[in-house]
Amino acid sequence: MPPGFALVGAGEAGAPKGVNPIDIRHGSRLVDIQFPAAQATTLKEITLTIQLPLEDSDLAPATETGSGVLAILPDLAYRRMSIVNVIFYGEPAMDKAWVLIDTGLATSGKAIIEAAEHRFGHARPPSAILMTHGHFDHAGALEALARHWDVPVYAHPLEFPYLRGENSYPPADPLVGGGAMALLSPLYPRSPVDIGQWLRALPADGSTPFMPGWTWLHTPGHTPGHVSFWRASDRCLIAGDAIITTGQESVYEVLTQRPEMHGPPRYMTSDWQEAMDSVVELAALEPETIIAGHGRPMRGPNVTARLHELADNFAEIAIPTTMRPNNR
Ligand SMILES: [Zn+2]
Ligand SMILES: [Zn+2]
Repeated sequence: MPPGFALVGAGEAGAPKGVNPIDIRHGSRLVDIQFPAAQATTLKEITLTIQLPLEDSDLAPATETGSGVLAILPDLAYRRMSIVNVIFYGEPAMDKAWVLIDTGLATSGKAIIEAAEHRFGHARPPSAILMTHGHFDHAGALEALARHWDVPVYAHPLEFPYLRGENSYPPADPLVGGGAMALLSPLYPRSPVDIGQWLRALPADGSTPFMPGWTWLHTPGHTPGHVSFWRASDRCLIAGDAIITTGQESVYEVLTQRPEMHGPPRYMTSDWQEAMDSVVELAALEPETIIAGHGRPMRGPNVTARLHELADNFAEIAIPTTMRPNNR
């Protein structure tokens, strides 16, 4: 086991003995995390950093369409890649364009291609890949997929340094609390990917390529160039990591995907003032349906109310009380 692996479970109150859901591959680099289903069912309810609980009745109704893809609207579907969601926008009809939003972990490429072919057919690549941001769990398979499909990749220009191989994200902060995912976060990859030859800026007019009726919103804080996608006609929000719908700091919340309204993942959020401003902006939209980078899609008035509660009390609920001094 690489150094640091002993941290797994050590920060979790009441962690059951013998549960070892973390799989470190590629030397000391954590690139994939496996959660055996049998272990999930044996876990007892434990209190961790639940921010604002949601109920199963707040889940957006989802239809399994094969290859692990769940459709929540006729033109919006997602697949969970271990710890993170990738999103398919577009109706599966043969003549329509579709796009992929975010690309999962480094190990996710093959499963994403299989899911895409199952949903949209063979020899039907996406028209583009859109990135909410470039963290390792969203850009992991990006280079492989851009190369495989040879399609443009759209992102906010402030995210370009992390997508052109120029800058690494700031180090993750293991001191933010909440569980082993946070404790382990310094092991997560943060070196940039380089997909410069496919990279394009999101249009300055706010329109979203190949997604008519959608606008992209600059929602920084979690990362400098983080964006969310918004469709006003049915109040649908693709939030990335600006807000998430399960706790991401605890292995056990990640494992159970317990529904909750949650600020951005704590250990890799670089500017908390910007993160708060972004959540206030998203709450003001009154979204009806929210699909985030982590957690199951949520829908309905209780979800909107909880988002307002998060925005109104962001400092107390979402910002960690302990962190590296330079991380405020
Ligand atoms: Zn992130
Ligand atoms: Zn994420």
